[in-house]
Amino acid sequence: MDPPRVGIVCAGSVTVFRISPQGRQVATSVLSPGDWFENVFPMASHERTFYQADQPLTVAWLEATTFQRVMRTYPDFGLELIRGQVRRLADVEARVSQNALDTVAGTVALAILQMAEREGRTDLHVTHEELAQRLGTVRESVSLAISKLRRAGVLAPARNRKRLISIPEPAEARAVRRLPRGERLAFRIRRAGGMPGRALEFAGGHTVQRIGFVADRHGPSAGGRDPPPNFASNVPAWAATTRSLVLSNALRSPALTTAALARSPERSPVRSVTVSPFLTVLRCAECAHADDPRRPQTVCTHCGGTLLPEYDTTAMAARLSKAEVAARPRGLWRYAELLPVGDLARAPNLGEGDTPLLPLRRLSAHLGLRDVWLKDEGANPTGTFKARGAAVGVARALELGLRELAIPTAGNAGSAWAAYAAAAGVTLHVVMPVETPEPIKAECRAYGADVTEVRGVISDAGRVVAARCAAHGWFDVSTMKEPYRVDGKKTMGLELVEAFDWDPPDVLLYPTGGGVGLIGIWKAMEELAALGWIDAKRTRLVAVQAAGCRPIVDAFATGAASAQRVADPQTIAAGLRVPLPFAHRLILRILRATRGTAVAVSDAEIRAGMRTLASVEGIFACPEGASLVPALQVLAARGDVRPEERVVLLNTGNGLKYTHLVPPGDGVPIGPPVV
Ligand SMILES: [Zn+2]
Ligand SMILES: [Zn+2]
Repeated sequence: MDPPRVGIVCAGSVTVFRISPQGRQVATSVLSPGDWFENVFPMASHERTFYQADQPLTVAWLEATTFQRVMRTYPDFGLELIRGQVRRLADVEARVSQNALDTVAGTVALAILQMAEREGRTDLHVTHEELAQRLGTVRESVSLAISKLRRAGVLAPARNRKRLISIPEPAEARAVRRLPRGERLAFRIRRAGGMPGRALEFAGGHTVQRIGFVADRHGPSAGGRDPPPNFASNVPAWAATTRSLVLSNALRSPALTTAALARSPERSPVRSVTVSPFLTVLRCAECAHADDPRRPQTVCTHCGGTLLPEYDTTAMAARLSKAEVAARPRGLWRYAELLPVGDLARAPNLGEGDTPLLPLRRLSAHLGLRDVWLKDEGANPTGTFKARGAAVGVARALELGLRELAIPTAGNAGSAWAAYAAAAGVTLHVVMPVETPEPIKAECRAYGADVTEVRGVISDAGRVVAARCAAHGWFDVSTMKEPYRVDGKKTMGLELVEAFDWDPPDVLLYPTGGGVGLIGIWKAMEELAALGWIDAKRTRLVAVQAAGCRPIVDAFATGAASAQRVADPQTIAAGLRVPLPFAHRLILRILRATRGTAVAVSDAEIRAGMRTLASVEGIFACPEGASLVPALQVLAARGDVRPEERVVLLNTGNGLKYTHLVPPGDGVPIGPPVV
């Protein structure tokens, strides 16, 4: 966790925004000099919080210990802070009662008055959009309310300058607040100029994740990790504005130097999350035999089945809350207790997880659906969801003392493991089919992996790996012979459920080759239910496969408990070219237990899906991810997905490694000839 500390606004003002689970940006309050925020007290919000500076900003940071010392030594300091909190609370109460009792027009008028009073000035640089964000509504409602107020004579006519609200006298504004509607309030409205977009970004309400400035419209970025400019020199200015405070001790303390700020790099919070003591055993999914996670394991020592990490969720529930998770920095490691890694400080971290969840508005309208989303795993390091499995798998290998790993791959697992092996300083041997796309081979070479190409498919690569591991003593980290990557992929499910405010979506479509991600997402929901964080509702999981390699689809259709190996798997989607997924029995059980289904689509449909997602939604997906588009079309047409249901497409990777699947003239208009 980030070190507990208190930030005090010294100069400038800050608007606090929350991002609601629906993705709406809501401004919750404005902090002005003397106001403060903290991550010392255990409170949290489920939403993402941003602090945006409205003008150049100076913040004084006090470490928790310094803060406590100052509070004890200077009671006036504490009183001043309490006064500020009371004022903010009063604002919130006024707004809540207003929202409950009044019309939108009244709410808008009150918001304008509050801003005028707080800022003590007459010109409010606020757009309709910003007012809408403050009030948690949409711009259209605010614009409508403002024209209503205008017609009622409360606002002056707009003239030609529309967007900036100006109040002649705060005193007058205060008086108007007590007057019934219809009294005249001379708001002058004119357009706001471009406001500097300097921002401090925080995550999860109280935990400082990133301190820095984003580019504003008037100048270049000050750089993501720079401390606020003029930090030290502005502290006395703030001390002067709050005259009753004596801060000489605090000013001398190391907490209030730019050097102290520079010593808190972005990634340090992630690495210091408490070690999970909750991993108990590796449980076989087939025979329930338990294996010891403190030793290197591959498959069940009893029956050869798939091993899954198992956690003491009862003990975990007593010590961990949703709010605590929500307050942590974004990314895969925020779910530390639900991950098998013990030594987080040594785990390689390339910024995995926290991928965007995007509403597919145009596509869903086209399909007659209303609530379709895409989780875009293409945003991960190395451009695919494999980064999640590799981050956790390599971290476990490292703490188990394994230093030379080997992996057979159809492509993306190889580059992801190569990247994390590089970051961890572990040797990796990659064996892949010659047909693997060139960008992926290049990635593996760049990451310094030992690359061998074989004729055939991934199972042929697997045989080569097995032989060499036996000969050289390397450790085989093949999919599902390595029991930990599944929990890395599980975080896709954890993020998804958390993003929807712990309400699992109705349906999830998953491109299923090896099926580890599907198993992970199912495991996420089972564990969240065991923690008591979600109810009995389960997302219906849909496995999507290619027509030329559909072992799960066929077995599901016949009601079989296990799938049959496909003799000659054929598809352009390499990730779906898995003749028999190792965990086929488990996958089939999961599809049935969640009342899901399995769908196959043709290569032509996959290509069309790539173009559709890219041209209609602006998302260039890998072929595996794009296969979900035609699959959703099938489900919608069959009535397997109802229009009002919340559907998530899990796009497993970025399309940039697959440009060969979108050749010129392939279904898109040909431009003028290249000379
Ligand atoms: Zn077993
Ligand atoms: Zn994998």
